[in-house]
Amino acid sequence: MAEALNEQEPGSGAELAVIVGSGVAGLTAAVYAARGNLRPLVFEGPEPGGQLSLTSVVENFPGFPDGINGFDLVDNIRLQAERFGARCVAHSVTGIDFGQRPFVLLTDGDPAQRRAHSVIIASGARARMLGLPAEGEMLGRGLSTCATCDGAFFKERRVIVVGGGDSAMEDAIYLTKFAAEVHVVHRRNLLRASRIMQDRAFAKKEIHFHWNRAPVEFLRDPGGKLTGLRVRATDTGDGAPLEEIPADGVFYAIGHIPNTDMLGGALPRDAQGYLTAHGVRSAIPGVFIAGDVADHRYQQAATAAGTGCAAAMEAEDWLEEQGLLHRA
Ligand code: NAP
Repeated sequence: MAEALNEQEPGSGAELAVIVGSGVAGLTAAVYAARGNLRPLVFEGPEPGGQLSLTSVVENFPGFPDGINGFDLVDNIRLQAERFGARCVAHSVTGIDFGQRPFVLLTDGDPAQRRAHSVIIASGARARMLGLPAEGEMLGRGLSTCATCDGAFFKERRVIVVGGGDSAMEDAIYLTKFAAEVHVVHRRNLLRASRIMQDRAFAKKEIHFHWNRAPVEFLRDPGGKLTGLRVRATDTGDGAPLEEIPADGVFYAIGHIPNTDMLGGALPRDAQGYLTAHGVRSAIPGVFIAGDVADHRYQQAATAAGTGCAAAMEAEDWLEEQGLLHRA
């Protein structure tokens, strides 16, 4: 356990640790940072709780044999962090000036002027959406962006996966464990997915491909329940008739967008826009990275918790190296 020598540096009002984001990664970092006596300040951001708070039941987070509601899981981690002294504020960080030390934070209206000796970026990623009518309404009501989270609700049902990349193939293959039929809707007649994933998907008799098709709208019964997708052909002119694909569930797998806008170009990214790091250490000393904002591969609550934990431990070590903490 470390002790803060000067949690608020005289005159500067600087925080020892600010955490950007309140998903599983950010809140797990908050638990560890709080227990390390850093009294972290968590900016909850525009989606408090992150992507998991949109998920109904989480069945793959270790420790919950009967599953746990996604909102409850993140809320429990928040309560756990607060119990040890973390402070959560309902604001977003919109910019960070890394050119000054302590770093200067720009926020969306937080009345306090915030500075921080260390920052943990855990701002997550958001699933790319299509922008169809009623999309927001359908999310969690037949529309999902996470096959691993929601696939089991579609036992013996018929589902649609939208996309043609590795995620779409992985999701389609995963969904065959539950669904009777999986229909892949892809806007081209060539998959972007790797050959091995394509071959695995083609080998599954439950998977049916709808080539050159793009979703236009959700089909719903009078009670609002999802009954399928209306799609248009992308390889013929505008006059081609629309088609209907009946389904009980629709899974989007058209990629994710990492939430890095607040960073400008300050930190290096990979070709897809995800932050790159050495473990959880960024290219800027004192800045650490956790969770999906740097992970396009796993994107799981369990991996986010792991990197959140590591980022907080690294931040604590770094602050100690700077003479801002000493071990009790
Ligand atoms: P991705 O490779 O970017 O593929 C996205 C897919 O969604 C593409 O097929 C794209 O169509 C389609 N798409 C994008 N925007 C669309 C729109 N507005 N309307 C309709 N379709 C749209 O993303 P990903 O599949 O999530 O993969 C991300 C990265 O993770 C990749 O590097 C991938 O290799 C990796 N990954 C690997 C594995 C694995 O190896 N097991 C599993 C998952 C992910 P177009 O093809 O026409 O552009």
